[in-house]
Amino acid sequence: MNILVINCGSSSLKFQLLNMENESLMASGLVERIGIAGSQMILKTTDGEKHVVQTPMKDHSVALKIVLDALVDPAYSIIKDLKEIDAVGHRVVHAGEEYSQSVIINDEVIEAVEKCVELAPLHNPPNLLGINAIMELMPGVPNVAVFDTAFHQTMPPEAFIYPLPYEWYEDLKIRRYGFHGTSHKYVAEKAAQFLGKDIETLKIITCHLGNGSSITAVKYGKSVDTSMGFTPMEGLVMGTRVGFLDPAIITYLEKKTEYNLDQITHILNHNCGVLGISCISSDFRDLEDAASIGDYKAKLALEIFRRTVKKTIAGYAAVMGGVDVIVFTGGIGENSIVDRAGILNDLEFMGICIDEEKNNTRGVEKCISKDDCPVSILVIPTNEELAIAKDTKKLVEG
Ligand code: ADP
Repeated sequence: MNILVINCGSSSLKFQLLNMENESLMASGLVERIGIAGSQMILKTTDGEKHVVQTPMKDHSVALKIVLDALVDPAYSIIKDLKEIDAVGHRVVHAGEEYSQSVIINDEVIEAVEKCVELAPLHNPPNLLGINAIMELMPGVPNVAVFDTAFHQTMPPEAFIYPLPYEWYEDLKIRRYGFHGTSHKYVAEKAAQFLGKDIETLKIITCHLGNGSSITAVKYGKSVDTSMGFTPMEGLVMGTRVGFLDPAIITYLEKKTEYNLDQITHILNHNCGVLGISCISSDFRDLEDAASIGDYKAKLALEIFRRTVKKTIAGYAAVMGGVDVIVFTGGIGENSIVDRAGILNDLEFMGICIDEEKNNTRGVEKCISKDDCPVSILVIPTNEELAIAKDTKKLVEG
């Protein structure tokens, strides 16, 4: 069974075609600058070659047509006919409280995703554009929606209710939803497999640390708390997002500066986090380079990031009454030796002991805790596309 996985952003889309008999990648790629000048598709074939197609793409439908044409183009030897694609899996960011699992897309699902546009105005509209375009271009092929929020629907109310007037939850649906659910679920399951243990016996803390970062407490296979909230802005200090913040700062800024609320929200999303503190970059590689030559603000940004991750790990261990496994994933979690070490130092009192030598690793599945450490510390590369393809296969076959 071949499955196409689509992840549509506002002006970009990522895709992967997977052969699910052996979970191998047949092709992958990225379309950039949809709807703006300079649109291009970068297609990666299994021989490692990158093929760039530059042509105007006015919308997601045109972009997806170019992707599908490339997949069947004899020049790339990927597939001969679109009939070889059995199903399409779509990443959808927000399903509100509607879905706690992936679903086959029908009119009702589309309506539910449309209803959540208000909650994810930057993400759900392009996700819907991708779904509609595929339905038009590949009629009759089943489509599956895999939601970022779904895995977190198992959180108890004490984790998802904000201390606001309760009717704001009832009337306005203001609550913690949590995001990156596909990744947290995937790496938690992989961690249990890696250790040869049943996930239903484990207390796992999954740290997805990338441009956007979040941490989830996974107790016996279920999300019981997570650091992103009503939107993906809450929680850890991120590349450009602020994370936890005293809400009074927003009203203070509105009074004291020329910025209106929309502008402040934009700044909190795009000009804060480690970029805001360091005034250098949102990329941790740049910050680590700058810190290594003594840049004060870069060092401070990294310290603040590590401290929020540390506090959240300790808090989630408390919430679960202990922790058996800590998982690092995402660009930073998988690759940054110094961040993993900096996050976990001083946690030995909780049985969390990182092994300096084993931690000297990047991008591979590995245990990095000391041999006699009661808590297993694992690096597990995430693969959200494969997780989406697996759910799609299960639903289409089922
Ligand atoms: P996204 O949230 O966009 O999916 P990723 O998970 O790909 O992001 O993470 C991207 C981030 O990972 C980059 O901003 C960079 O800071 C970090 N990163 C990637 N490689 C390294 C590395 N070798 N060392 C430190 N940080 C890294």
